[in-house]
Amino acid sequence: MKLFEHEAKKIFRDNGIPVPNGVVIDSINFPTENLTYPVVVKSQVLVGGRGKAGGIRFASNEDECRQVVRDLLGMEIKGEVVNTLLIEEKLDIETELYISVIVDRNSRKHLVMASTEGGVDIEEVAEKNPEKIVKYHINPLEGFYPYMALEVARGMGLHGKIATKVAGVIYKLYQVYRKYDCEIAEINPLVITENGEVLAADAKVIVDDDAMFRHPEFSSIVRREGTALEQEAKELDLNYVDLDGSIAVLGNGAGLVLTLVDLITLYGGKPANFLDTGGGVREETVLSAMKILSKKCKSPEVKVMLINLDLAISSAAVASEGIVKGLSMYPIDVPIFARVIGNEAEKARETLKNAGIQVYEDIVELINSAIEEATQYEHISG
Ligand code: GDP
Ligand code: MN
Repeated sequence: MKLFEHEAKKIFRDNGIPVPNGVVIDSINFPTENLTYPVVVKSQVLVGGRGKAGGIRFASNEDECRQVVRDLLGMEIKGEVVNTLLIEEKLDIETELYISVIVDRNSRKHLVMASTEGGVDIEEVAEKNPEKIVKYHINPLEGFYPYMALEVARGMGLHGKIATKVAGVIYKLYQVYRKYDCEIAEINPLVITENGEVLAADAKVIVDDDAMFRHPEFSSIVRREGTALEQEAKELDLNYVDLDGSIAVLGNGAGLVLTLVDLITLYGGKPANFLDTGGGVREETVLSAMKILSKKCKSPEVKVMLINLDLAISSAAVASEGIVKGLSMYPIDVPIFARVIGNEAEKARETLKNAGIQVYEDIVELINSAIEEATQYEHISG
């Protein structure tokens, strides 16, 4: 889960990393008594590069600030609507540094990266001036110690008090990264102000979704990601992705469904979605899938539904009965083409045929029939 800048900065503050004073607002009627001008008004969206996209603005008094807030709220940045703003005291920046901690899968270690070329795209620095990036691997069994953080800061070419302060932030950033099971913890820019203060002006934290169970502190954060149907499917524990084609797809196993989606595309069709019921196919899962697909099939672009089940352990007969039951609960008006192989497949095929579903033996035949059905409509509608 990716955190918003203001959420990540709260974690930083709680863990001793200096951040600018600020307030989080979501309405144009915001209190101004706690603000000292000039301020920076920052759009809270989960995409990067907000500065370049016009999502970071400055204001030197209350009137300007109100105007900027009106401009930014509701604005779209790379497809994301700005609903929340972070207003902070504007820093007098002397230098912008870059620091991050990530998982380096190749070396099977944690990796600290640091550079004096902060503020800009670090990918750009990596390409043009790779020597400007200090890389420091951390053996997770050994851990990371303050003297190591100081080595990183010195490696960046920093000296004296500044080196000590930056090393302190690098050390704490690693602590945050470990404590919250992060995939990445990044500060870009880490700012040195004209007064020699060191503060995190930006914050990027992604927490490993598989570690959520041991972080009750995040349970109150509700992320609404994806389309309405994707969100509903997620609540039903289905792996579902909306696509914009005409052939709705239901299958079991992520690899199998991906292959199906690829094959449909290869033969000239357009999948309307990705839906993987997951491993053990039970009646409950099939019913959930049918609920989602019944909604998907109501959209006018969807012309046909394709089912491909390959069950080694779960019973195809049970799955097929689930499909038929699902049809009675969540009607689907487009034609349905299916292919079933594996455990109790013969029985499953009978069940599907009796419910008026076209059953195919061969996967290419199944796909081509579905494509023909879908494109036939295209011709009629012109
Ligand atoms: P990003 O574009 O999404 O990475 O957003 P950042 O928070 O990193 O802001 C982008 C740039 O805006 C920074 O690199 C700074 O140059 C500038 N910026 C952000 N906050 C301040 C601030 O408080 N004072 C000044 N002078 N510049 C700022
Ligand atoms: Mn940034």
